[in-house]
Amino acid sequence: MHQLTLAEIARGLADKKFSSEELTKVLLARIAQLDPQLNSFISLTEDLALTQAKAADARRANGESGALLGAPIAHKDLFCTQGIRTSCGSKMLDNFKAPYDATVVAKLAAAGAVTLGKTNMDEFAMGSANESSYYGAVKNPWNLEHVPGGSSGGSAAAVAARLLPAATGTDTGGSIRQPAALTNLTGLKPTYGRVSRWGMIAYASSLDQGGPLARTAEDCAILLQGMAGFDQNDSTSIDEPVPDYSASLNGSLQGLRIGVPKEYFSAGLDPRIAELIHNSIKELEKLGAVIKEISLPNMQHAIPAYYVIAPAEASSNLSRFDGVRFGYRCEDPKNLEDLYKRSRGEGFGTEVQRRIMVGAYALSAGYYDAYYLKAQKIRRLIKNDFMAAFNEVDIILGPTTPNPAWKLGAKNSDPVAAYLEDVYTITANLAGLPGLSMPAGFVDGLPVGVQLLAPYFQEGRLLNVAHQYQLNTDWHTRTPTGF
Ligand code: GLN
Repeated sequence: MHQLTLAEIARGLADKKFSSEELTKVLLARIAQLDPQLNSFISLTEDLALTQAKAADARRANGESGALLGAPIAHKDLFCTQGIRTSCGSKMLDNFKAPYDATVVAKLAAAGAVTLGKTNMDEFAMGSANESSYYGAVKNPWNLEHVPGGSSGGSAAAVAARLLPAATGTDTGGSIRQPAALTNLTGLKPTYGRVSRWGMIAYASSLDQGGPLARTAEDCAILLQGMAGFDQNDSTSIDEPVPDYSASLNGSLQGLRIGVPKEYFSAGLDPRIAELIHNSIKELEKLGAVIKEISLPNMQHAIPAYYVIAPAEASSNLSRFDGVRFGYRCEDPKNLEDLYKRSRGEGFGTEVQRRIMVGAYALSAGYYDAYYLKAQKIRRLIKNDFMAAFNEVDIILGPTTPNPAWKLGAKNSDPVAAYLEDVYTITANLAGLPGLSMPAGFVDGLPVGVQLLAPYFQEGRLLNVAHQYQLNTDWHTRTPTGF
């Protein structure tokens, strides 16, 4: 039963082959048995899951239907869940029970999804390896000595190991697409504003966006359908109708213009990944797509710009964690300043502190123009590059990551080496564009992802291309040994 996709689960539940309660029990037992190897969950919510599963079964018995009614999922532990610990992977929030549900959590619950638990993540979503979590590193089910990617590494490892069919993630600079690539999943970062950020603990507010992680594009369409939509509680949420994503899956790719940026195939890319990307291009050509070389000339400036803007926003967002209003408070503070200093010094981990310092520095009066303002100008140039490219092509295709999953600990002493892994993903966040990663093959037994980017609000086009590709390839069906 654990091999079923969301789409298959929906059919099985509709055909009364099994109940949501039965399925939920099977998956909870599987998590108890296998997750100690992976560490993909921070909290399990067994009681809530069984209550929700029974309620979903009752709704189906009353004639209700819906693709998510009774479907087991999990939430990255930065989505607020009422009365349940919402830690954001940090000691700072280890004792924090959210007083309300994030919009995404509430919408999925209303659609009948069953929450099995909260998944592990890099502390405050800062990282590409899921090693900065207060709750310990997550292991990649494809090779337990390797990282699963981050920051949504817990969601990715759990879905890849078939502990559940799909989970939510968030993507500020690649945290859905990169772990999807490193664990052989399909993951989608929607257009900025498509999914409400209300109740999502903020990392970098102008870049953060929630989205689905699943094994197939078909399942991403189902989960995204439940997540997307206008929310008056989020001032950056966009009041546009949500299309039927599942209906978009079956369009023909005949004549689809795919742009391949020449800058993507530079020195930093593992040549074995380059070869797999070229194979995926050939596959899409067979389906009728037309390939065109394009250029994104400002791509080289994306990492420096991102690593100014994201820490700057983080330094502001994380100032609310002061030992007074939320989370961790140090023992016996001597005075107010001591309370602030020690609560933050003890509650935040190294990477979070590094980014707060970088961000506060970039925003300081003397350096604001030189760093922050300059980075914002680069951001505009990157967006302009994409706008020019999308005048000529419908989709942009390339690798999701320059390397496959690295060994646990391999990049810990060199944060910049980890930042460089984000080279292909962060441009979509800087421009606010939707992006998807899907399985494209293996290097040394480790999965490789191909990334697709589309114009604003064209999530349906991404899902369409990925679904057609998955109908003609079987990379996404491969299961890690032992799971
Ligand atoms: N790896 C990037 C960072 O560390 C992206 C993280 C994310 O998307 N949340 O900032």
